[in-house]
Amino acid sequence: MTDNEPRDFIRKIIYDDLESGKHTGIVTRFPPEPNGYLHIGHVMAICLDFGVAAETGGKTFLRLDDTNPGKESPEFVQAIKDDVHWLGFDWGDRLTHASDYFDHLHESAIRLIEMGAAYVDSLSAEAIREHRGTLTKPGTNSPFRDRSVEENLDLFSRMYAGEFADGEHVLRAKIDMASPNMNLRDPAIYRIRHIPHQNAGDKWCIYPMYDFAHGLSDAYEGITHSLCTLEFEDHRPLYDWFLDQLKPEHRPRQIEFSRLNLAYTITSKRKLKMLVDEGIVSDWDDPRMPTISGMRRRGYPPEALREFVKRAGVTKKDKLIEMGALENCVRETLGDSAPRRMAVLRPLKVVLTNYPEDQVESMEAMNHPGNPDFGTRALPFSRELWIDQDDFMEEAPRKFFRLKPGGEVRLRFGYIIRCDEVIKNDAGEVFELRCSYDPDTRSGTGKSDRKVKGTIHWVSCQHAIDASVRLYDRLFNDANPNMADDFHSVLNASSLEVVAAKLEPSLAAGDDAVQFERLGYFSVDAQDSTPDAPVFNRIVTLRDSWAKLEKQALQK
Ligand code: ATP
Ligand code: MG
Repeated sequence: MTDNEPRDFIRKIIYDDLESGKHTGIVTRFPPEPNGYLHIGHVMAICLDFGVAAETGGKTFLRLDDTNPGKESPEFVQAIKDDVHWLGFDWGDRLTHASDYFDHLHESAIRLIEMGAAYVDSLSAEAIREHRGTLTKPGTNSPFRDRSVEENLDLFSRMYAGEFADGEHVLRAKIDMASPNMNLRDPAIYRIRHIPHQNAGDKWCIYPMYDFAHGLSDAYEGITHSLCTLEFEDHRPLYDWFLDQLKPEHRPRQIEFSRLNLAYTITSKRKLKMLVDEGIVSDWDDPRMPTISGMRRRGYPPEALREFVKRAGVTKKDKLIEMGALENCVRETLGDSAPRRMAVLRPLKVVLTNYPEDQVESMEAMNHPGNPDFGTRALPFSRELWIDQDDFMEEAPRKFFRLKPGGEVRLRFGYIIRCDEVIKNDAGEVFELRCSYDPDTRSGTGKSDRKVKGTIHWVSCQHAIDASVRLYDRLFNDANPNMADDFHSVLNASSLEVVAAKLEPSLAAGDDAVQFERLGYFSVDAQDSTPDAPVFNRIVTLRDSWAKLEKQALQK
């Protein structure tokens, strides 16, 4: 692919439309329903809708598709706005709601009635379902299908006036009850709902259906390319039917692409809401959630998410993308940008028996081994240190190059130490190591060229900051929890572990994202952290420990 070639089939269509002069400017929209928080799937749609417009000097509307009161709320509206901004996109003065067009939509419905293209049906919801037929059986006409225009106008105006209860009547398009496309079997256009609306207040008790509202909202806004996911492909004939009937000044075109599915994750707002409502996660922004707010809180950089969906690509083929692909983008971004720090997650005390009791040395530590521009910092070194329990083994195999009884290891930016004695508690667990240091081996002095195989990280006990560190794992054990009959059966019971960690003192400053050397990338949890009790989230490990498992699972 050269730089001039469009990246995907949608960009190809759009660039062709510009070249042929069909359109002089591109207008797109991102139309979430404010009935939940946005997730990784929406990131794909956002990057596509805002991305193609930005690339071609066009415009994008952020349209809140609020045709379903009861499930929608201003909380969700605010979250959507925050998330889109954080991802790096701006709608300028083009923030709209489907509900902004309720008056127009109402007029359009009346026009359809006047044209004989819509009628008020008084069958019960159940009877309507029965009349609808099946994929293999045509539907049958409602006995109310041939009501006169006058009667329909009268009934519809009384529906609007609030004379009827929910479900008593419904306004339907008059298309074809025998159509092989079920969406064309006289779909509902307006239904009665005596319920206030998050944006329109209590002005309405009838509300337009999504399919009716969507295409017309696109037309009102001058949308040139209405990009949506494949499940709307079968709705396109209906989208076009409304435009054919009502002939708005501007005619938008719907184009579908495949949904982005991420392995070990669910991407359905309805199911994500269940996780929140049932307390399986702490909230929509729990760092284990695949929501934008969850990923933000966890510490994922927005550029990593943008890069991820760019690599995933826009296609027509359904796909399940490995979680590792997303995590790699996060690692790559943070690898360049995150300063290195030292932290001990599961502390084991080391006492340097030959180190002067009151002495504290200041070690110079590089902030980024690959980039000297990050500079250095001072690390206090003293007689008592914390190391990670994983870095010591009492009965170690020959190839274990960390610390073992009688063995030596280098403390990063410090000295070579030898383990002389292992102290255990009453339960027989190792609880302290007595070691001696070699004063000639201080890093960077070049005094001794003695080398040892292993280097481990450490934190000085008297200078350490106590912090709670949250180690996250996948929420699900199954590669495709979307497919599970009941996602509860594939929940990963150990998706969160909290450890009482010891951090080097410079971490009190609360940097954005940092790498804890040898452990992974971490960032402060801005919500739960206090100066006295800092809380860190693990953003991602340094290596992909799931890669092999995941490949196998996806090949099945
Ligand atoms: P959910 O099933 O999670 O409720 P939705 O499709 O109902 O998702 P909307 O708020 O209607 O959510 O979606 C807004 C836009 O985002 C739509 O254009 C939709 O096609 C797109 N979108 C939603 N989920 C995905 C996904 N997994 N991949 C790509 N685009 C998506
Ligand atoms: Mg939807």
